[in-house]
Amino acid sequence: HADIAMYHAKESGRDAIRFFTAEMNEQVHDRLLLEQALRTALERDEFHLAYQAQVDSASGRCIGVEALLRWQHPELGAVSPARFIPVAEALGLIEPIGEWVLRTACRQARTWQEAGRPLRVAVNVSARQFRNQDFPERVAAVLEETGLPPTLLELELTESMLMGQAERAELMLRRLKQLDITLSLDDFGTGYSSFSYLQRFPIDTLKVDQSFVRAMLTGSRAVSIVAAIVAMAHSLGMRVIAEGVELASQRRQLVELECDEMQGYLYGRPQPAEVLELPG
Ligand code: C2E
Ligand code: MG
Ligand code: MG
Ligand code: MG
Repeated sequence: HADIAMYHAKESGRDAIRFFTAEMNEQVHDRLLLEQALRTALERDEFHLAYQAQVDSASGRCIGVEALLRWQHPELGAVSPARFIPVAEALGLIEPIGEWVLRTACRQARTWQEAGRPLRVAVNVSARQFRNQDFPERVAAVLEETGLPPTLLELELTESMLMGQAERAELMLRRLKQLDITLSLDDFGTGYSSFSYLQRFPIDTLKVDQSFVRAMLTGSRAVSIVAAIVAMAHSLGMRVIAEGVELASQRRQLVELECDEMQGYLYGRPQPAEVLELPG
């Protein structure tokens, strides 16, 4: 890619080369700015959580929420987690940030529970957090500190975290399950799905990735894949939640396929707790 850019730059003369270099510089500069800003974001209280409803297909009631991290920087504005989380991982900042997310989400769920609206809260876990041997103890400590019943906490993991070191991952998952929390696999079907780990790991829920939900509109192959995921999950005693449900037609298809829960803009966008409106 870089070679092609250089080639075009040379073709069109010196100015073009300078332009290319300037653009490169700008990218490096942007990255440095982002890194610097990220280092102080936590202490400057620039993060907040948005919560998105997870709805039970049968009853239409909201039974849980997913906590999604939001970063509002005074100059950079709102930065997407897809952009800053990989940077936070690389800088070794994801552990304190992840712990802040976990504590904030558990505290919020505890507040809802005390107000008579028990909602399960799902928290995304990064690879780096999951690699830390102390992670299960950290989770236990946050549950203890916030008073949230463990049955109201769900941790979202991804397939890639479980690959490679199956022994270690299995031990980690068992320790987490001992806390009596729920474990789900996020973006299911997009990573290196392996039937052997589904058989062996104590996963409660598969979250069908939104790419399949989207593809279902135009292709019967995606429908078959979702049907197969649901059948397999159910026969293994797991639940299935569909991500990225935007249209009533998708909901109808997913209900027909016996998908247990739905999440997506059709039911609500991720919103701060203060303004969150829950369906059902
Ligand atoms: P994810 O965990 O798969 O979260 C779902 C993403 O899909 C969220 O994007 C959500 O806003 C978006 N979404 C929800 N419903 C719909 C829909 O109907 N249509 C479409 N097109 N999108 C929908 P978001 O909030 O930008 O987060 C992106 C990713 O960043 C997350 O994907 C997750 O991998 C990561 N992330 C977010 N918060 C955290 C966090 O606290 N910790 C870690 N480690 N990762 C996080
Ligand atoms: Mg997630
Ligand atoms: Mg997902
Ligand atoms: Mg994702």
